[in-house]
Amino acid sequence: MSLEIVDSCVSCHACYDVCPSNAIEMSALQKHFVIDPKKCTECEGDYADPQCASICPIEETILNASGIPINPLGSLTGIPPEKMEEVMREIQAR
Ligand code: SF4
Ligand code: SF4
Repeated sequence: MSLEIVDSCVSCHACYDVCPSNAIEMSALQKHFVIDPKKCTECEGDYADPQCASICPIEETILNASGIPINPLGSLTGIPPEKMEEVMREIQAR
């Protein structure tokens, strides 16, 4: 079982420093961090929650083994997806 980092990763390095399995590495090909599925333990035995997903600041960037985002849209910003467009308009009008 392994988590997956997808293209929305901004390569902030945060997850790299907290992984207990050294499973996170920079992919030259994909130009962002990736998880080595052979090393990822989903943090079992080390932490109650996957540390990479707990620290990642970008929603929908880390997927569980079923391909579902652990931090779905709105989970970190507190802005429901259906309100995002309206909120962005408000911010840009300031
Ligand atoms: S779930 Fe845990 S072991 Fe797997 S990549 Fe993330 S931090 Fe590393
Ligand atoms: S914490 Fe998230 S955005 Fe930062 S490097 Fe890891 S996956 Fe990418």
